[in-house]
Amino acid sequence: MTFRARHLLGIEHLAPLEITTVLDLADRYVDLNRRTVKQSDVLAGMTQINMFFENSTRTQASFELAGKRLGADVMNMSVAQSSVKKGETLIDTAMTLNAMHPDLLVVRHGASGAVNLLASKVNCAVLNAGDGRHEHPTQALLDALTIRRAKGRIQRLTVAICGDIAHSRVARSNLILLGKMENRIRLIGPPTLMPAGIGEFGVEVYDDMKKGLEGADVVMMLRLQKERMDGGFIPSEREYYHRYGLDADKLSHAKPDAIVMHPGPMNRGVEIDGDLADDINRSVIQDQVEMGVAVRMACMDLLARNLRAERGRKIAGEMV
Ligand code: ASP
Repeated sequence: MTFRARHLLGIEHLAPLEITTVLDLADRYVDLNRRTVKQSDVLAGMTQINMFFENSTRTQASFELAGKRLGADVMNMSVAQSSVKKGETLIDTAMTLNAMHPDLLVVRHGASGAVNLLASKVNCAVLNAGDGRHEHPTQALLDALTIRRAKGRIQRLTVAICGDIAHSRVARSNLILLGKMENRIRLIGPPTLMPAGIGEFGVEVYDDMKKGLEGADVVMMLRLQKERMDGGFIPSEREYYHRYGLDADKLSHAKPDAIVMHPGPMNRGVEIDGDLADDINRSVIQDQVEMGVAVRMACMDLLARNLRAERGRKIAGEMV
């Protein structure tokens, strides 16, 4: 198995072979998760701390379940209960937690780069569960697994990523992953929600949804990230839905077997029609949630192997 990373901070640092390693192992965890007894002991004796400085429903639950199914001791630390509210800095919090000897630290933070900074200060493996607009690597990996299982491959596909690209770490991590795996990427959205200079990334940019969806194998919708907007990016939600909300009519421009994805949480009637989101013949949104647990199990398993090997080498070095 090829997976050299010490932390999982972003897709940017992963080689295509490492991505494939995660997906292959996650496939095996999907099988385990479908059994009645879903227990493994690969993280037995290890401690996982989930630190969420930003709200999360599915990602936090998914990491918690993943750790528990692998036999780790899992602790959730939500910011509302922490000293961060009392003014403790990110580094102070990290150092305090570090002193409790966690093996895996799962971190979500509103500031881009905060998780990388934290990883440089602690001596356990750190997993980025989303930092600002920067990266959300496990989301891109679970999306890749969902696509690979639905389409039979994760190469040479036309993938349309639609909506609020500018504020989305999901879009960024997916763009990097899909690019590394040699797919054709189209970004669709209003120019106000497109990051500056995006055309240089080897992607096609559209502001007309129907044209952009032409011939797409995968249609990935994004949530309007209102909490990251500090001005008027769209005229109104109604107008936005009319031009960029995915409904059956717009989807008919994609390939007849195109799949519909959304990372959640969804704004039904804003970026996607509610009935289409629930249509099991087109939508793989529930599969994404299922793949999320398996991918997080695979990532933590691989990081734990590297951590054990590193600690083993250290002990051997001290004995010489
Ligand atoms: N849950 C994803 C994230 O944390 C997508 C979203 O919030 O829209 O980035």
